[in-house]
Amino acid sequence: MNISKSKTLFSQAQHSIPGGVNSPVRAFKAVGGDPLFIKRADGAYLYDEDDNAFIELINSWGPMILGHNHPEIKEAIIKAMENGTSFGAPTAREVHIAERIVQMVPSIEKVRMVNSGTEATMSAVRLARGYTGRDKFVKFEGNYHGHGDAFLIAAGSGAITMGAPNSPGVTTGTAKDTLLAPYNDLEAVKQLAEANKGEIAAIILEPVPGNMGLVLPKEGFLEGLRSLCDKEGILLIFDEVMTGFRLAAGGAQERFGVIPDLTTMGKIIGGGMPVGAYGGKKEIMDYVSPVGPVYQAGTLSGNPIAMAAGMAMLDHLNDHPEVYEQLETIGTRLVTGVKKSLEKLGLSYTMTHLGSMYSLFFTDQEVIDFETAKSSNTELFGKYFQAMLKRGVYLPPSQFESLFLSTALKDKEINHILQANEESLKEIL
Ligand code: PLP
Repeated sequence: MNISKSKTLFSQAQHSIPGGVNSPVRAFKAVGGDPLFIKRADGAYLYDEDDNAFIELINSWGPMILGHNHPEIKEAIIKAMENGTSFGAPTAREVHIAERIVQMVPSIEKVRMVNSGTEATMSAVRLARGYTGRDKFVKFEGNYHGHGDAFLIAAGSGAITMGAPNSPGVTTGTAKDTLLAPYNDLEAVKQLAEANKGEIAAIILEPVPGNMGLVLPKEGFLEGLRSLCDKEGILLIFDEVMTGFRLAAGGAQERFGVIPDLTTMGKIIGGGMPVGAYGGKKEIMDYVSPVGPVYQAGTLSGNPIAMAAGMAMLDHLNDHPEVYEQLETIGTRLVTGVKKSLEKLGLSYTMTHLGSMYSLFFTDQEVIDFETAKSSNTELFGKYFQAMLKRGVYLPPSQFESLFLSTALKDKEINHILQANEESLKEIL
């Protein structure tokens, strides 16, 4: 495969951009080789600067659930652009998207739009602290909530991929208020709550973590956290930046029937534009400025182009519930096919799957938390990644990221992925 233009751009980029990229995992550091510079995308495919085509299994880390260049979203963006790109003042679109989110997401009665998932989680924790008058919060090892200081402790995603789950630059003062527990370990959280009685403002988690690879909640774990929060006056925050509008129209909370106090969102909600949001019970959300005292603001929050893209996406998902059935079918076909190849080749690697997210871990341990996820052979994953790439399939360049499927994957692409998978596994054995 000729990737000479990407190679040249990567070496040029390193002079003016740290590591040549604007987000660390993009550098392919964990999988070897040079990253591809992408020129364009359409449907289920990405095209690099050398015009190689790749079937997409990242989908911009989740947002492109309908594939690239979806006509309804494209049209909404173009139309919005004709009327100006930013006003810094309220718009009708913001009212409409807020109403749509309230209608779709079970826990949300009021919502505030921001510009990224990071902003959403930072703001939600600040709100929880302001509302409860408590300083500490619980976070799970291997969960990733963006790059706010307080979250960069035992963080998943790019942080663990780069070997820095605890980032330098986070002060001891900040870190002391982040309490850590292993994911899926309710007993550990109960012990933290007991040892820090009356001091914990919130428990934040990815209800279905995708940032240490995909890990599923054990039966009763989410329900147990809900009961504990009710008992101790702690706010439960679901970080649904990945799972929101993906695992169901109403996210993981709809799928598992557990209702948090606050929910953070991003990715799909912007239809490919930079958008985040946080929302929840009225009485808590009304603690945010200008009604309440907790300050949070944004020059570009509710940006008209971003709102148009997000609204087109949410309208489509709301009006086409069959999207979720399609995604279940695509996910099941791919996972069944990959498992078949594993069996055929006598390999006991672990697969996790829910709806349109899945992971293949190069370990034979059951993956239930950060420790078991880290038992994976990341070197082997790197070889698998390169073998798939060579065969035209673009996977997340890290063992510690979930795959994200889109409705643009049809029979042709599914068959191609499964064949590439079997050939790649054979090649790396
Ligand atoms: N929360 C979760 C669960 C995420 O997966 C991410 C990003 O991947 C974030 C928060 C941060 O979102 P952003 O990258 O938009 O700041």
